[in-house]
Amino acid sequence: MRLYISADIEGIAAVVSRDQLAPGKFEFESARDWMTAAVLAACDTARELGAEAIVVSDSHGTGQNIRAELMPDYVELVRSWPRPLGMMQGIEVGRYDGALLIGYHAGGSNPAGTLSHTMSGEFFHEVRLNGVVVPEAGISAAIAGHFGVPVLMLAGDDVAVAEATALLGDIASATLKTSTGWLSAMVPPPQEAERRLRAGVRDAIGRIGQVAPYAMSGPVTLEIRLRTRLMAEWLALVNGIERLDAYTIRYRADDMIGISRFLMFLTSIRKAIE
Ligand SMILES: [Zn+2]
Repeated sequence: MRLYISADIEGIAAVVSRDQLAPGKFEFESARDWMTAAVLAACDTARELGAEAIVVSDSHGTGQNIRAELMPDYVELVRSWPRPLGMMQGIEVGRYDGALLIGYHAGGSNPAGTLSHTMSGEFFHEVRLNGVVVPEAGISAAIAGHFGVPVLMLAGDDVAVAEATALLGDIASATLKTSTGWLSAMVPPPQEAERRLRAGVRDAIGRIGQVAPYAMSGPVTLEIRLRTRLMAEWLALVNGIERLDAYTIRYRADDMIGISRFLMFLTSIRKAIE
């Protein structure tokens, strides 16, 4: 068995504030440790059930949150940006039995969910693929789907879990905390969060072969509602980027690889002009 894990930080149990997301700020080092512990618990559970190899992509912020020195010998880590497949880089290498999304959060236009956003809170308000509003979990699932890999599980707050199961169908899940607002949550003790995560991974592995990949057939249309009209105006200067209204742009690609590359381009230039 070979598994893929994409790990974010906002959906990790005790993460509730923006400071915890950024190097140098309050409790960021703790948040890294919690994220690393969650990834290790998922890997360890999968290993017990027969996983021979696992690729983990560190998919938050700098892409260098997970403590690389603590990874066991059967885990390969994808670190830093930019990378064409974004939060799913590594999914293109070899054959996987399934993908797990750990520490994921709800999407930018969902009024609920702790630290909800889609890719960049300051840049994007909402992302749609072929007309369907998708959180990051949906984008990741569609990239995995391009390679024929099903997402078996999502671990995050209750809102992210509800979004993912509504979009992806009958997948396993682990509710690591209960959202009580954008910057608050009810957080179980670490042992309980770990118990839920391990149970979710066991459930996910039991579903191998039963979950269909979330695949987009044919060309994919991406629509992004931006946070400011000026961003929409600038992007619409580029041939191939259409402006749908004051805040919304549209881009088409042959497949999810093209969409992922475009998203990575946008989030990279956004970082460059900050
Ligand atoms: Zn993140």
